[in-house]
Amino acid sequence: MTSLALDETGDAPPRSRPSAWNRLSRNALATFGLVLVVAIAAIAAAAPLLPLADPNATDVANRLQPVFSDGHWLGTDQLGRDILSRLIWGTRVSLAVGIAATLVATAIGALIGLVAAYYGRWTDTLLMRGIDMLMAFPYLLLALAIVAVLGPGLLNAMVAIALVNIPFFARAVRGATVSLVTREYVDAARLCGMSNPRIIAREIFPNVLPVIVITMSTTLGWMILETAGLSFLGLGAQPPQADLGSMLGDGRKLIVTAPHVATIPGLVILLLVIGTNLLGDGLRDVLDPRLKSGALARPMAVTAVDASAGRPAAGAPNAAEAPLLSVQGLETHFVMGRAVFRAVNGVSFDVAAGEAVGIVGESGSGKSVTALSLLGLVPTPPGRIVGGDIRFRGESLIGAPLSRLQDIRGNRIAYIFQDPLTTLNPLLTVGEQVTEAVRRHQNLDSGRARQWTLELFERVQIPRAKERLASYPHELSGGQRQRVGIAMALANDPDLIIADEPTTALDVTTQAQVLKLLDELRRERGAALIFITHDFGVVSELCDRILVMYAGRVVEEGPVEAVFADPRHPYTRRLMACVPILGEPERSIDAIPGLPPAVNRLPPGCAFAPRCPLVLDACRHGEIPLDRLGDGRAARCIRAQESDQESSDA
Ligand code: ADP
Ligand code: MG
Repeated sequence: MTSLALDETGDAPPRSRPSAWNRLSRNALATFGLVLVVAIAAIAAAAPLLPLADPNATDVANRLQPVFSDGHWLGTDQLGRDILSRLIWGTRVSLAVGIAATLVATAIGALIGLVAAYYGRWTDTLLMRGIDMLMAFPYLLLALAIVAVLGPGLLNAMVAIALVNIPFFARAVRGATVSLVTREYVDAARLCGMSNPRIIAREIFPNVLPVIVITMSTTLGWMILETAGLSFLGLGAQPPQADLGSMLGDGRKLIVTAPHVATIPGLVILLLVIGTNLLGDGLRDVLDPRLKSGALARPMAVTAVDASAGRPAAGAPNAAEAPLLSVQGLETHFVMGRAVFRAVNGVSFDVAAGEAVGIVGESGSGKSVTALSLLGLVPTPPGRIVGGDIRFRGESLIGAPLSRLQDIRGNRIAYIFQDPLTTLNPLLTVGEQVTEAVRRHQNLDSGRARQWTLELFERVQIPRAKERLASYPHELSGGQRQRVGIAMALANDPDLIIADEPTTALDVTTQAQVLKLLDELRRERGAALIFITHDFGVVSELCDRILVMYAGRVVEEGPVEAVFADPRHPYTRRLMACVPILGEPERSIDAIPGLPPAVNRLPPGCAFAPRCPLVLDACRHGEIPLDRLGDGRAARCIRAQESDQESSDA
């Protein structure tokens, strides 16, 4: 429980996401790159202010002086010119050419990419085939050919390098733009009568800007290297002007007699390119919008588990007498920077074979995280299971090897998600996807697996099941997609089905059909069900037992009828008061005043106390235990035992 201490160190305002600068500075390599680039660029920029010798003044009497000689810290070259001065002025030239080439390539490449993607059709074909032609040549050869035509010189070298790099920008920007032009907000802008250039500039460009910056930052190093390459071959900077490449080229002939003449500019090129590339990579990690939203924060395949979790409780029942699923003191936290969000905070419950348990609670009360924790599906980072145990048929799932969890996932324990459109692969037919789920766990040949999939589709009452096998997810209605989700969950005859708000995205009539189907199929096969919802009506239809969650804890549990007839926790009572009842228009619907507490700063005592109409002084401190009330009922309230009369005053 070391993570708890973290939360209580300082009172810094909770920040859910660190700033871009913070994330960059946390990347040691990128910081190193930044320091390197800034240092080199600052020295180069300050060249006119530094007390440097004239970089082009020759002094043949003092030629090839070694490093640290009098008046020449880095020695002199074959014409007696001061290497330090030439190096600093030369770095300035190399940087200027590299940056200028990058800017030119960015501007032209981005424009081509934007126009090609936005206008599409023949504009796209024409522009991109032109780009393909440029890319067909090895780019250094192409740069050489361009300089050969234009003649040697720094400006021409810059033009050549910019030209050969345009395709990289054009393709990157086109790729990013293509996915944007069909977005609704672009359609809306068109319908408003915005002109095409304005849409590109106002609606699309800001969205591809991160891609442009990322491509720039990762290409700059190459551009500097390519400039140096052309100068090295004598096609860039012309004598007596120095740039890093020409200095390297000049020193090449003296590598044996005076190695410092070539190695010093070589070293600076190396540092500069390493610096820009490390910085570029770091910037990409920070700026990529997908990384920013956390989508590419590559969660591990199984939730991380702290050492304190998963210890078998003393006297744990053996597999034969254990309930199907037993959750003991489960704690799942999200650690973000210094803040610890206690999403699930000591949840315990059992599910017997064939039993249906409903979990209800306001949004954010930890229902989904509880369910995801069971199969190690909470994303890490930032999620961690820090305490408790989960036993399925007596076997601990906490800390179980991934291969074991994968055998159980979708096989013994199946999951139905809220929105099947986001969980089905848009590029595979629904038939293929269900068949895949079948074959992952059953040793069936593809024909038999397809036959079984067809049976499943018929069983979940998808109309024209045979044709539907070959449909893509977007071709199905919401209700049909959820039926596919149920078919997939049933594919391997699971012992436990976890359904996380499976009908919230559906309209009421479809919802009723889907729920009825789920209930029938589950009973038919004797599977247990954990049904997560915020709808009390649904729980009463489907479930045997109910758990009410608030701020990551179970605040009330018991058989459905008993809890409905006589809720013991004020929160349950208030939740039930929020449900409208058909034919009782005179009943007032009371929203619960206030908001649930943030789970990173839970109040001491009962988390519901600030909103509770029955609150006492004693509610606000100490641990409020889950009070066993008999008949399988429990409530986490110090007034749970009071007679109805008193507590229903509220
Ligand atoms: P619900 O009861 O509505 O299903 P959840 O279990 O999804 O609520 O969420 C419980 C808490 O955990 C919320 O405070 C939520 O902000 C937090 N949470 C859930 N998923 C993540 C995540 N991936 N990263 C950070 N916090 C999360
Ligand atoms: Mg949820």
